Amino acid sequence: MAGYWEAVKKNFTGGDAFDRSAKELHKSFMKEMNYMAEDDTYIPKLSSMDMKYNFLLQKNREAEYGVGVKSRCITDERSYTGVSALMGSDKRYVTRIPVTACRFEKEYFSGNKRIKRERYGGTISSYVVFAQTQDPGASYCCPNCGDINKVSQLLEQGCRSCRTKFMMPDLYPRITYYYSQEEKPYHKTTPLPFVLLGILSAVIFFFLYSSKQLEIGFEYYFALMVTAVCGIVFGYIFYALGMIFLVILDGIRSSSRCSAYNKTKRELPGFMQNYDPFFAVDFFAGKVNSLLKTLIFTDNYKNCSVYEKDGDNPYKDIVDVDYQGAIGLNNAVSDGRYVYIDVDVYARTAFMHGRRLKHRDEVFNMKLCRSVNVHDDCNASVHNIECRSCGASFNAVREKNCPYCRSAYNLRDYDWIVTDFERKTG
Ligand SMILES: [Zn+2]
Ligand SMILES: [Zn+2]
Repeated sequence: MAGYWEAVKKNFTGGDAFDRSAKELHKSFMKEMNYMAEDDTYIPKLSSMDMKYNFLLQKNREAEYGVGVKSRCITDERSYTGVSALMGSDKRYVTRIPVTACRFEKEYFSGNKRIKRERYGGTISSYVVFAQTQDPGASYCCPNCGDINKVSQLLEQGCRSCRTKFMMPDLYPRITYYYSQEEKPYHKTTPLPFVLLGILSAVIFFFLYSSKQLEIGFEYYFALMVTAVCGIVFGYIFYALGMIFLVILDGIRSSSRCSAYNKTKRELPGFMQNYDPFFAVDFFAGKVNSLLKTLIFTDNYKNCSVYEKDGDNPYKDIVDVDYQGAIGLNNAVSDGRYVYIDVDVYARTAFMHGRRLKHRDEVFNMKLCRSVNVHDDCNASVHNIECRSCGASFNAVREKNCPYCRSAYNLRDYDWIVTDFERKTG
């Protein structure tokens, strides 16, 4: 795997300034996430604008069902934080993926009552993105009226004088997405239930068939004992085979995801280089992950700027999504004006089934589209948003239609949008 040895070396030597900084930001982000579990109104400050928006959408969805999802990652002094082998090609953005081994605790509440608690060990990874040439404290001249604003002011509220809204890159460094991976606790599964079941079935078998042919006596008890021992052995063999079967099944499942993502990493950058010299596949995966959450947690697509379709959201039962760290490329084409990318996104969802909460591994198919003229360049893409019909300025990243004259804004000329979205399995 490309980059593997570099990652090993980085972890051995401590890496460069970005690695060290990314690890610190990652730790702070985990603290912020834990803080969010205590305080419902808190949104992690280190998250990107898209992530902040998705946290809000998810909180609204939870409120609709009267449920609450509280996730915590618990670390101690021995928890190791390293940087992972998966790293995007460094252009103007620098991406680092710190990963920490920790224990997870996820609690689901209905009102004040806890309805489910999951605890497992695993790792949490986050994508820490730096922009090499951006200064978040810098001032920026409003291209519309010339007033000097802080970059953060322009990004979050629009120009302080003329109220013009702008589409621009985030303020970096930011966490653009995160995902957790569960370590399957096979070694913790005890063989005891299998052995007991083995003994039980052996003894039942004994009483049904063999006992009638034997007189009560030494031979009878000896045969019973031998049958019971056989039960233990068979129970244990059954346990061992079952575990092997589970491990193999899990391996096949995760390797199909892994190979799908490897294929994406091999093929997508080559295709995209023709249109965007700054394209980085990890950055794109972050975008896909954030679009996934937006599409799942937006109640009605009518005014959803990132989705071309209209109508009601069919995924309203979902209250929580865990991205599984992989996207799989199906197809990538261009008609000269737009690029069209078709990907599968692997996720684990928690959904409401009546009053009950359930989990499911799911694959969502997403078709994306963006103008060939857009580049993932963190400085060059500041531009104001103006309605083509009435000239009003509004937040077109979140709203599809101009709030003044209702005409639609074509976001695909400026950013990735989704043309089609559906559940593939589940
Ligand atoms: Zn202005
Ligand atoms: Zn308008």
